[in-house]
Amino acid sequence: MNNRIDIRFPAKSENEALARLVIASFLSPIDPLVDELAEFKTALSEAVTNAIIHGYEEDEEGYIEVKAVLTGHYVQVDIRDEGLGIENVELAKEPLYSSKAHEERSGMGFTIMESFCDEVKITSQAGFGTVISLVKQFTPTASFSKVH
Ligand code: ATP
Ligand code: MG
Repeated sequence: MNNRIDIRFPAKSENEALARLVIASFLSPIDPLVDELAEFKTALSEAVTNAIIHGYEEDEEGYIEVKAVLTGHYVQVDIRDEGLGIENVELAKEPLYSSKAHEERSGMGFTIMESFCDEVKITSQAGFGTVISLVKQFTPTASFSKVH
């Protein structure tokens, strides 16, 4: 099962739900386990929310690109913004670190992404933007092997 998609949408919070639905449909041919899909969608939401809140600071003129590649049961989803970027990636990844702690952010987004994916890659340049890559090997399920 090989496939890829590329979507672009304005940095509006309602588009986070759209991205989740698109990725869930994109993955449906591999018939993912319910828990694995739910976790991956949560990780995706964290990355898209970060692009909206931190990358663009809620400026809806900004665009977010979500690119997904499926190779067998191996999935990589890249979430790209062209916003503010991250000055210190190591610090940003620390559990409980948030540059917006005063806005009641808990600083757990990257920790959640890392616990729900096999790998999370962060490429960022201050002033230019950020790409978060979420990588996961999904478990092949019995119903999948029956039909394929
Ligand atoms: P929470 O996700 O728990 O609501 P948070 O978003 O602050 O809080 P993380 O998602 O772990 O926590 O992100 C940590 C920090 O990394 C953010 O506070 C922000 O400074 C920075 N960051 C994350 N994503 C981006 C991004 N796309 N652009 C710019 N900065 C980012
Ligand atoms: Mg976050």
